Amino acid sequence: MSPIPGSGLAKGLAVTLRTMTKKTVTAQYPDVQPELPPRSRGVIGLFEENCTVCMLCARECPDWCIYIDSHKETVPAAVEGGRERSRNVLDRFAIDFSLCMYCGICIEVCPFDALFWSPEFEYAETDIHELTHERDKLREWMWTVPAPPALDPGAEEPKEVAAARKAADKLAAAQAAEAAAAAEAGQAADTGQTGQTGPEGGQA
Ligand code: SF4
Ligand code: SF4
Repeated sequence: MSPIPGSGLAKGLAVTLRTMTKKTVTAQYPDVQPELPPRSRGVIGLFEENCTVCMLCARECPDWCIYIDSHKETVPAAVEGGRERSRNVLDRFAIDFSLCMYCGICIEVCPFDALFWSPEFEYAETDIHELTHERDKLREWMWTVPAPPALDPGAEEPKEVAAARKAADKLAAAQAAEAAAAAEAGQAADTGQTGQTGPEGGQA
């Protein structure tokens, strides 16, 4: 059966009308910022204090785009007669985001939680060299990493949190003991002074 003349046009107009009256879903970026999920892979932040320069991330990166330089330093023994220790000191940590394929392997393999995903993605450059972010830049990204989601009700406290809390409690107790000792010493000094001067200006 041959189609009714003009039916194609009517169908097309119907589609146009339907689309015109629908709510638009196109995000008007950059005027409107997209609402990204917190675990979006935008850029990698480095929490330098946690990095032990173990090189695992650089070795596992499939693109070889993590550059790390370090030197060794000798740390004196903590107690008399103890052994000196040597530790790695970070000189350079950089990631070339023009090579990175955002696989996340470096973040997964880091045994010390020094690397994190940040959802920030606005770091396009006109010069490709600028896409190699050095440690200062990687640290800046760190401050854009979202806080981890809240634990499920009744969930066990994470080991890291428990350890940090224990360390903070220990430090607070040590500080309180120190303050109490200082106050006691001050009080003893005051009493001594009072005893020395005595009534009528005493022994001077
Ligand atoms: S995300 Fe993947 S490619 Fe990018 S630096 Fe990490 S390991 Fe390398
Ligand atoms: S794996 Fe982690 S601790 Fe080791 S060098 Fe990389 S960032 Fe530092």
